[in-house]
Amino acid sequence: MAKAASPYGWIAKSLATLQRAKWHRQVQPIEGKGGTTITLEGRPCLNFASNDYLGLAGDDRLAAAAAAAVKTYGTGSTGSRLLSGHRPIHDELEQAIARLKGTEAALVFSSGYLANLGTIAALVDHRDLIVADQYNHSSLQMGARLSGATVVVYEHNRLEQLEQCLCERRSHHRRCLVVTDSVFSMDGDLCPLPAILDLAERWNAMVLVDEAHGTGVLGATGGGAVEYLNCRHRPLVQIGTLSKALGSLGGYVTGSAELIDFLRNRTATWIYTTGLSPADAAAARTAIAILHQEPHRLTQLAHNGDYLRQQLDQLQIQYLDSESPIVCIPVKDAATVLALGQQLRQQGIFVAAVRPPTVPTSRLRMTVMATHSQQDIDRLVHTIQPLMAGQGCPPAEHPHPAE
Ligand SMILES: *Cc1c(COP(=O)(O)O)cnc(C)c1O
Repeated sequence: MAKAASPYGWIAKSLATLQRAKWHRQVQPIEGKGGTTITLEGRPCLNFASNDYLGLAGDDRLAAAAAAAVKTYGTGSTGSRLLSGHRPIHDELEQAIARLKGTEAALVFSSGYLANLGTIAALVDHRDLIVADQYNHSSLQMGARLSGATVVVYEHNRLEQLEQCLCERRSHHRRCLVVTDSVFSMDGDLCPLPAILDLAERWNAMVLVDEAHGTGVLGATGGGAVEYLNCRHRPLVQIGTLSKALGSLGGYVTGSAELIDFLRNRTATWIYTTGLSPADAAAARTAIAILHQEPHRLTQLAHNGDYLRQQLDQLQIQYLDSESPIVCIPVKDAATVLALGQQLRQQGIFVAAVRPPTVPTSRLRMTVMATHSQQDIDRLVHTIQPLMAGQGCPPAEHPHPAE
């Protein structure tokens, strides 16, 4: 009998296609704790590639809180929150998140990704309409697909398209959910939240905003883009993560007490999974306490973002529109961005070389932390400048045709 083709043969072919397009990716180990200086391949590197905006992931107080929670509650929470996995530390953390965000209640998930998947699928189904920004995070896009709702995508931050969609299609659906990142993770700009909320109100639509890069980053108290844009009093479903500025692991949803009570009863990615580990919950709880006690971390973070943009302006290096610690330099293609990332690493600077399919067009993505010094940022821009000369970069305003 002739040997049948392997049913797994397509995997090698698919990998070869990724390699050819320079889209293939691999992990790289970072030794030690993280922070503004990390060890990569045995060499120290200035780190501009982390989401640890406040510099808390390596903080001894978070580590001590996590260790104490393990002593008190053990390593695993041992069950679903609705059965045997609910611990006092979960209540404390959820109350702290609700206070930070100025909402009635909050619910923590094992990750921000799961919070988005589950919440969207709980709020809408095949009878409903989702209107979504083109650059939304993968978890929002997957949540929209999972829900079975009709999904209409508008071009990035183009509110006239959002309005037109609501005008044409809202009446054909039972519920409607507008979904957007608050801080766009691969660009660094913000969504025009007040205007989105106005439109949603007019068309009787719910709004879900993903504050993964907003919470602990923007707003006078770190309450996120929602606080920064003065939208705290408006009805809203807010999602976020404990794993970026808050230095731990996990995700959350926050909003009205009614919303949270509903989600506890209807969100599969919360009900049918084990509760967040006590250590992660305690570390996040401590991070929120530190955020309140040390507000200078927030001001320093904002200052560092402004300082980086000023220095790039002075050296006439173009970057994408940014109002956050995320600053991206557009680069013409995937091969070039990889080479630039490599050259920077050889000179002791770690930035993310981001390329399709993560983003439509390649870019160097830099994130500043509250704990970076002015000298760190100076070294970054002065290392980048000679590499950028002669790159022939595309214009700074969101180019994004598919590569
Ligand atoms: C990182 C991120 C998430 C996922 O959060 P995790 O807790 O890491 O799963 C969701 N949305 C956005 C915009 C993100 O950047």
